[in-house]
Amino acid sequence: MKPVRPSAPQLQDLVPYDPKYIPCNIMNSANENPLDVDESIKHEIMREIRGVAFNRYPDPLANDLRDMIAQANGLDRNQVLVGNGGDELLFCTALAYGGPGRKFLNLPPTFSVYVNNAQLTNTEVVNVPRNADFSINEEAVLERVSQGDIDFVIVTSPNNPTGQLAPEDFVLRLLEATDALVMVDEAYFEFSRTSLRPYLLQYENLVLLRTFSKAFSLAGVRLGYLLGNESVIREYMKVRQPYSVDAVSQAVGRVVFKNRARFEPGINAIITERARLLEEMPKIPGVKPYPSDSNYILFSVPNAADVWQALFDRGILIRDFSRAPLLEGTLRVSVGTPEENTAFLRALRDIVIG
Ligand code: PMP
Repeated sequence: MKPVRPSAPQLQDLVPYDPKYIPCNIMNSANENPLDVDESIKHEIMREIRGVAFNRYPDPLANDLRDMIAQANGLDRNQVLVGNGGDELLFCTALAYGGPGRKFLNLPPTFSVYVNNAQLTNTEVVNVPRNADFSINEEAVLERVSQGDIDFVIVTSPNNPTGQLAPEDFVLRLLEATDALVMVDEAYFEFSRTSLRPYLLQYENLVLLRTFSKAFSLAGVRLGYLLGNESVIREYMKVRQPYSVDAVSQAVGRVVFKNRARFEPGINAIITERARLLEEMPKIPGVKPYPSDSNYILFSVPNAADVWQALFDRGILIRDFSRAPLLEGTLRVSVGTPEENTAFLRALRDIVIG
């Protein structure tokens, strides 16, 4: 076989994204909604899909869905952009606002995809690590952006995997302090019931990222969206793949968004179960959960990697961060159904007590 020449230099140190998603009895590793879309809504989706012409290209901008999202947020369609999951829109952020000679301000530990996208696009990463309790080092961030060379910042609120909201007054100070694009990644905002949405029209440099993957049970469908000012959305439109959101996903998104009120009881159940987990977990010796405004809980536990393995051996998959930089000794469990959470608590107690 003839050899192939090396790929682009920025790929040399990259490892393909691996969510470590191994089929298991209880899948509480990926912060998904534990409940699938309700049967009656699925029927409505099937009817909507029947009306889709598979031989035609989809509406490139998903305008019907875009209009629904815009209307629900008191915005115009030009202030909304739908993507193939939040992930596509994150990549577009690096394409549109990063690149050679440009800088991304990152607040680790946080969602690892941001740094990957920066590396792929030859964007320099400037890290301002969080404090020991994972709160944002606010003064250090404000000080760093005041140098004027940062092109975009991503503030994850609630932060993944650590769980807490970014303080609103900090984000507002940041927006005042810089003309860098400030993305607030609100992938989990439905579980915190807090959004920067009210400030969108005051700050041209504010853009919000949302997803259908969590609260709306559509991780398997791939739909995310941005809320932003028209001038910013226009830049994203220049870099996105024209047909990234297929017609079937658009149809699913329309039906689910129309029925979004029906997801509220499921969201409330997750919030209630989160409180139960946060109350029960510290009763297990050595287990220290961090506060969470989201649908997952990061916790530290002695011998975390062994605990992860023992849970896996019992059919419970959670996420292992025990060797991840700045997260050493921690694991993250997604809030599941009451039965799943009870099984998790019981297994964790058995494993730790031995
Ligand atoms: N942002 C954060 C913080 C996430 O955790 C995720 C999902 N893991 C995403 C964005 C992207 O989600 P999706 O591509 O499923 O919309």
